Amino acid sequence: MKDKININSIEISEIYGPGKRLVVWFQGCSIRCKGCWNYEMWSFESKNPLSVNELLNKIQEKKDEIEGITILGGEPFDQSTLLLDFLERFKYEFPKLSIILYTGYKKSQFKEIDLKIIKLSDILIANPYEEDKRDITLNLRGSSNQSLEFISDFYNIEDFLDGETKVEIKILPSGEMVILGYPEKSLINEIKIMNN
Ligand code: SF4
Repeated sequence: MKDKININSIEISEIYGPGKRLVVWFQGCSIRCKGCWNYEMWSFESKNPLSVNELLNKIQEKKDEIEGITILGGEPFDQSTLLLDFLERFKYEFPKLSIILYTGYKKSQFKEIDLKIIKLSDILIANPYEEDKRDITLNLRGSSNQSLEFISDFYNIEDFLDGETKVEIKILPSGEMVILGYPEKSLINEIKIMNN
């Protein structure tokens, strides 16, 4: 069994759920939806491997400035054993922080371990991205077949009102630009041209 979570990146963001959140993108996705804009996260090649302890330490450093964490990818359930271990310890160590969890799998595909993981979350966003159902008015979802389910009573519907899709642009100290959210391809191209 692998002992490190394969992670693409970790960012502080305000567009992946209520409040400021530590967002963790898992690396590797076996679902491979047509039109996915995170295709660079499909590969299972090791990217930024972190042990559960190392990931918990990163949260410890930020815990006072965030409302919770959001886990997406890539496909988090493709690393379910380590994800379950991480979330069990996260709930114990940070009981006041919330968990928003994404998966591209459908309910009918969930395994026993996936159900254990879901029980630890507060919000579950499920189902694969479907290009022909793209809807930019949805909050936190790219296509209308994606569900948003309240697993605990941490949040309510008022916290997840739909509207216009949000985009966040960060310029890293290295000068590299990171675009977060669900932007139209044309917007990404325009931003890249402006940045060149
Ligand atoms: S599940 Fe997510 S990361 Fe995987 S292909 Fe679909 S949209 Fe992309």
